[in-house]
Amino acid sequence: MSLNKSMHPRNRYKDKPPDFAYLASKYPEFQAHVQTNLSGKAVLNFKEPEAVRALTCTLLKEDFGLSIEIPLERLIPTVPLRLNYIHWVEDLIDGQKQPRRGIDIGTGASCIYPLLGASMNGWFFLATEVDDICFDYATRNVEQNNLSDLVKVVKVPQKTLLMDALKEETEIVYDFCMCNPPFFANQLEAKGVNSRNARRPPPSSVNTGGVTEIMAEGGELEFVKRIIHDSLQLKKRLRWYSCMLGKKCSLVPLKEELRKQGVPKVTHTEFCQGRTMRWALAWSFYNDVTVPSPPSKKRKLDRARKPLSFSLPHVALKELQAKARALGCTGHSPLDGITTLVEKALTELRVLHKRVPCREQEKSLLLTAVENTWVHGRQKRREQMRQLRELPRAHQGADAAPPVTRKKTEDSTRESSDRQPIVEPADKSVPLAESEQVPGGELSKKGDSDDVEMLPVKDGEDAARETISKEPRSPGSVEHFLFKCLVNVLHEESDVVVEMHWVEGHNKDLMNQLCTFLRNTLLKAVAKS
Ligand code: SAH
Repeated sequence: MSLNKSMHPRNRYKDKPPDFAYLASKYPEFQAHVQTNLSGKAVLNFKEPEAVRALTCTLLKEDFGLSIEIPLERLIPTVPLRLNYIHWVEDLIDGQKQPRRGIDIGTGASCIYPLLGASMNGWFFLATEVDDICFDYATRNVEQNNLSDLVKVVKVPQKTLLMDALKEETEIVYDFCMCNPPFFANQLEAKGVNSRNARRPPPSSVNTGGVTEIMAEGGELEFVKRIIHDSLQLKKRLRWYSCMLGKKCSLVPLKEELRKQGVPKVTHTEFCQGRTMRWALAWSFYNDVTVPSPPSKKRKLDRARKPLSFSLPHVALKELQAKARALGCTGHSPLDGITTLVEKALTELRVLHKRVPCREQEKSLLLTAVENTWVHGRQKRREQMRQLRELPRAHQGADAAPPVTRKKTEDSTRESSDRQPIVEPADKSVPLAESEQVPGGELSKKGDSDDVEMLPVKDGEDAARETISKEPRSPGSVEHFLFKCLVNVLHEESDVVVEMHWVEGHNKDLMNQLCTFLRNTLLKAVAKS
């Protein structure tokens, strides 16, 4: 999944990354930084601060009508990330195109948040800054965009955060504060040493920014803790306090701090743009604020609702259609042909299915899987191991009990290399492979990949299966099943897409496996001919 998919839904760059070629043709100062790569694409070297600055200034001009100047020796903001934060603040305060009053702690030379918030939504801003150069540039950037009525830049001493900026105004309630704090505790951290994963590649873009901008004593954790402590005194003077975080690991201790202090409303989010991830935290002392849910939950829900699918490219359709015709399919549309082939594969797998009414230009099958006939023996054994591990440990400590050995009938031809008794989970004598340590991990991971080895199991291999195959052949009438799903076959432009919508059952990994199996079966049919 491209990370841009998880940009804020209103972010104008979400499905529309900047068109470098177009911008270069319109802005000569931007063109100077654009190169054409071997495949003829206009590209920018994000490791050059000049190029990053040119892009920021050009996007602000083109998309927001803002003209700014920023020195190379200070932090150069990237526009899509800053926009993600602005949109999230809109969500917090219901402030889209509504006049609101906010504070930007450490506005930087660009003064980007106030300029965006004021020009997009008409927000009023108090923008604070400690650094002389940043303060001068920020003031000029506000003036040259005629936004002095809405944005007030103030110089504050290093020690203060919110308290001093607000001490003169005792009455006004601000709707929010936002802050992009200095992320790093020291030079090493700024260079990426001691980052959360030592093997991570170096950042793909240059880390622009002066010393006071990107570094603060104790890093972002201490900086945000100071904002939290100011907020404990100011409480309802602001409806929402918020802060961006450069490191995910800062979230837990800061949330813990807010919990300890009894702050009633707390939420967080993540900002994704290109390969850069950022997090943000917000808290409020008001009980009547709407609290947007954190993204993970939302995304998990989206994922749960999203069907699994695979597509059959239009170049393969003719052949698939011919195969379907050979099976007696009389329909002319590729949808008829693909549905016939899916039905054939399901019949072979003894997965119960029947056609159900659906929209025009679509075919639907209701499917009930009673037994797992699509997974290769080795994978199946892993699944059994997993189930064993999840069983209550009834035999724990029963040293004399013989290990439960694998049934020979399962796959006697394939297991020469990995022939070992399967033992109770309590018995540590047979170490599990790393991938097997995560319940379901291997299966769900493999379900997505192209190289899953899955074979239909031959008739008569398993006695249990014999009983099951005598079950009534109607998907609706079985009592015990693994899962039910709805299969839709539809057109997507000139391709055909097969979607599998979860209805009910034990484990979605199984549907994932079946989906991969069907896709491989259909595509194999084309590859063979
Ligand atoms: N908001 C800008 C700049 C972020 S960098 C952006 O998003 O691009 C952090 C800024 O905070 C720097 O400009 C730094 O000078 C400023 N800063 C550091 N300590 C501060 C403090 N105590 N009060 C106000 N600003 C501070």
